Amino acid sequence: MPDPIVIATWPFGKVAAEAALKSLANGDPALDAAIAGAQAVEDDYSCRTSVGFGSLPDRLGRLTLDACVMDGKTLSCGAVAGVEHIKHPAALARRVMDRTPHVLLVGEAAKWFALQQGFPLEVPYTTDAIKEWLEKHPDLRQKPGANPPAPCDGASEINIDADHHDTVTVLTRDAKGSLGGACTTSGLAYKLPGRVGDSPIIGAGLYADDLAGAAGGTGVGEEIIRIAGSSYVVELMRGGRSPQEACVRACERVNASAGRRGVHPARVAFLALDPKGNVGAACTAKTNFQYAVGRGGKVELVQAKEIAAGM
Ligand code: ASP
Repeated sequence: MPDPIVIATWPFGKVAAEAALKSLANGDPALDAAIAGAQAVEDDYSCRTSVGFGSLPDRLGRLTLDACVMDGKTLSCGAVAGVEHIKHPAALARRVMDRTPHVLLVGEAAKWFALQQGFPLEVPYTTDAIKEWLEKHPDLRQKPGANPPAPCDGASEINIDADHHDTVTVLTRDAKGSLGGACTTSGLAYKLPGRVGDSPIIGAGLYADDLAGAAGGTGVGEEIIRIAGSSYVVELMRGGRSPQEACVRACERVNASAGRRGVHPARVAFLALDPKGNVGAACTAKTNFQYAVGRGGKVELVQAKEIAAGM
């Protein structure tokens, strides 16, 4: 019988991996376990600023969340993007998968669907997140009634530091050997209202197919979308590459894509799990990507290989 395995992005992925391993140990299917892992991070206000309630908001101070889920056995998938006031977007993405003929619902309509499904509307803001947002926008703090920040400052490339992003992407293999994945995020801090990154896009932020492998991404979503990142990693595994080789190739491709536009390589990372239980991960330069690996009842953090531009 295959060993249950989970991998999850970033150090806070430990919280996800522990929850997912527990779920797998109870005999749950891979997708249920991946969602349990994602939800554990959505519920943990202490360990991040970019997943779930308490995360950093968009440029207008509004917090909107993105998530998707995928079942490697059936290729069933669901996603929500730009959804406000819903604490568990990964669970909502699962409802889109299970209860609609669609894959992706967005914004107000996703919220309306959540209400129909019995999800409560909740207040997503914490005093710390509001304080940080005000610190970034001193004009608003010092001059009540001042204009809100410009919705777009004209910057054409996204330059983010490590504190202003991060997504939890959880990939699992259950005791029957099936793969599942869940991905949940608030996206980039101070994003333009309406911006959607890779995380809720099947094939960009997440892909899972029992016949090839599962992969996920994190980092600057625009770069991951440009190369259809997770789908690319899975297709490389389908073609015989190991998860590690496939993640390295995806990072090289991001570097090459940034090079074609003459911009500084973006910070992105990929992680992958194949049907045999092999795992791998890689990131672009200066991303300092760590991911959690859970198997045999234990979870450890592993440092991913950095792929410099031009390699
Ligand atoms: N990929 C996410 C996004 O672009 C952010 C992140 O993972 O850091 O929305």
